[in-house]
Amino acid sequence: MAADPRTLQEAVLFFADPVNCREYVVARRWPNGVICPRCGSDRVSFLEKYNRWQCHAGHKDRQFTIKTGTVMEDSPIGLDKWLLAMWLLANCKNGVSSYEIARALGVTQKTAWFMLGRIRLGMQDEKTGGKIGGGGGEVEIDETFIGGKARNMHKDVKERRQREGRNTGGKAVVLGMLERGKTVRAEVIVDRSKESIQPVVRANVERRTEIFADEHLYNWRMPNEYSHNVIKHLEAYVDGNVHTNGIENFWSLLKRGIGGTYVSVEPFHLLRYVDEQAFRFNNRKPMDDGDRFRYLMRKIVGKRLTYAQLTGKEAGYQPEENLAVSSLIWTAVTSNTRTSISNSTSRKDAAAGRKGPSATPTTSTSTKGLVNLPYLQTLASKLAV
Ligand SMILES: [Zn+2]
Repeated sequence: MAADPRTLQEAVLFFADPVNCREYVVARRWPNGVICPRCGSDRVSFLEKYNRWQCHAGHKDRQFTIKTGTVMEDSPIGLDKWLLAMWLLANCKNGVSSYEIARALGVTQKTAWFMLGRIRLGMQDEKTGGKIGGGGGEVEIDETFIGGKARNMHKDVKERRQREGRNTGGKAVVLGMLERGKTVRAEVIVDRSKESIQPVVRANVERRTEIFADEHLYNWRMPNEYSHNVIKHLEAYVDGNVHTNGIENFWSLLKRGIGGTYVSVEPFHLLRYVDEQAFRFNNRKPMDDGDRFRYLMRKIVGKRLTYAQLTGKEAGYQPEENLAVSSLIWTAVTSNTRTSISNSTSRKDAAAGRKGPSATPTTSTSTKGLVNLPYLQTLASKLAV
């Protein structure tokens, strides 16, 4: 068996063996030998019987597993399922819903939702590559609205927002910045004001870069820092390279993913969906499925996400203050999702999932289900990049 699966079928077969799973992750996480994630020492021994290592240094919590210190930490779900979930999320063009993951991997919908949230954290761009643009690069900048109607918003929030003059019609605003031929950056912002847009552009785009944007640019342009090209959408022709076709293509992928695959996107979670779509967009061809999966594997190591962080309930976090759109809950139940729910082996799980991520994930029974290979393959072929 090839040690490096390149297709979903190879991945399913290869990761069915727990030893393969462990060795695969160990080789990528610790290419120079296993080290203790708590103290960095390489004086560790493997305890075969317990499938974990023990550090010889004299600190607390000397034992650790392959999951310790990664987004999988504390999860009772097996590596086989984690790795397949990563494969699907890395490679399905429009994303994959928790209902689909639940059915494909034999876990509850709530568990699948939690796994996906953690994997999306792994997909986040650390922006270690510096800013985009510069060196003659051309950057398209555009905003898009995602989400539902003001009537779904809590009355107080709606009134306050109207009072503060940043009513966005109940929708969340995403600002996208795409360097032509290269990568996209996208962030959720409070509104389309100059105060909201300018700092994000400054943080992401090199000074002096040539910017392409629509007429809204007149409201936030920074002529001393960037050179600007304004697209007049009302005119019926494309004026040479003055267009925003690149970022509009990204928006259509993002909206297709959110509208067609996910049941609901709350603003707090929206930024993670945006990150997920940006990950696939930035790692598109010539990368193949195996390449994208291996790249994601590298990224998940060293990141950890607790349930409280995932749901925004961690002490001190006030989603309303951060995004000002927290009461917005956008529900887009599509035919695609309905099929998944009605075919689900557990209607109860699907119903529980609809209530949202308010409770602790149920994991006690969710590790017993089996991977549903035929369904997984159908899903993957339907959703291929
Ligand atoms: Zn140690």
